[in-house]
Amino acid sequence: MDELQCPACGERDGLLGHRRGDLIDVTCEACGQQWVRDPNAIPDCDRCGGADMEGAVKAIVEKSRGSQLSIVATQVVYLCRSCDERVLASYRVGRSPLMPDQLPTE
Ligand SMILES: [Zn+2]
Ligand SMILES: [Zn+2]
Repeated sequence: MDELQCPACGERDGLLGHRRGDLIDVTCEACGQQWVRDPNAIPDCDRCGGADMEGAVKAIVEKSRGSQLSIVATQVVYLCRSCDERVLASYRVGRSPLMPDQLPTE
């Protein structure tokens, strides 16, 4: 069981949860990030099989006119604390959304 933490700003205390069936809608009072928590669906790591996962916010980008990429939405993803250690370490510093592994092409 991992502890509940805002994937966007790291807040642990100011989180509001509203149960909705099996899911929990969580709102962070500190930064306003909202996400849905499915207590049964925190994935195990597909590389090492570990369950030590940490939430992070990932950007969904679209290519707008020209070659500019703009963030159209964010989603919460779960990263492995051992396999993705370096990504998580830099994410915790700035807390800016992770960019997708594959950027859209024309
Ligand atoms: Zn937050
Ligand atoms: Zn792993």
